[in-house]
Amino acid sequence: MLNLLLDFFFPCYCISCGVPISSRSNYLCINCRSTLPFATNNCERCGSVLHDGLCLFCNNREVYISKHISIFEYRGTAKAALHGLKFKGLKNIAMIFPDYIVSAIDSMNEQIDIVTYVPMSWKKLRARGYNHCELIAKRVASKRGFCFKKTLEENKGYIAQREFGYKERFINVIDRYRVISKSNLFGKSVLIIDDVFTTGATVNECARKLLEAGAAKVFSVTIARADIKKLENI
Ligand SMILES: [Zn+2]
Ligand SMILES: [Zn+2]
Repeated sequence: MLNLLLDFFFPCYCISCGVPISSRSNYLCINCRSTLPFATNNCERCGSVLHDGLCLFCNNREVYISKHISIFEYRGTAKAALHGLKFKGLKNIAMIFPDYIVSAIDSMNEQIDIVTYVPMSWKKLRARGYNHCELIAKRVASKRGFCFKKTLEENKGYIAQREFGYKERFINVIDRYRVISKSNLFGKSVLIIDDVFTTGATVNECARKLLEAGAAKVFSVTIARADIKKLENI
């Protein structure tokens, strides 16, 4: 009854196609959900698409992540949902993703001790009101009974990665994050949740910091993977 009243007074619409839907649908209708573009994860380590047998992420680079999986391609309904979550204040969209992430973790078949997330600056957090990756990571941890922990903070003065091209993203991310000193990571296997994997620079840098702080292994899952070829300078 309460939900019916809520739907009447505060109607919800699908973020992708615009049809009116129940507030319990988390802004994505059943039809659009069925068109979520699942990504294929090719590279054994990072899941990226291979080009002539080579992984553009892992090749010629220090890779700190033991294994990464991206759930969707960053296009269509997945892109619309992430856009609504990040830029339109539709916080409940975060609830669409945890089940998919839990399945990805199960397919990794690895021991996970801590689930964490990529932090955002205080400035951005104040403006948005929430860190969507934190919401998702919390839900993922509670679904599987993993320990949820905030392990990283973003240092001041860094510009958003999306402002940069391929090479600059690797430079811009160096030392962008610091481990919160009270995080007890020694010997732990940590899973990082992030939204979009483009060059992989962000999760790789987070993994570097976590390993430096004593973590035994770091895994990551992102909701989507962007087409690396769409970045300039490549
Ligand atoms: Zn729809
Ligand atoms: Zn790779």
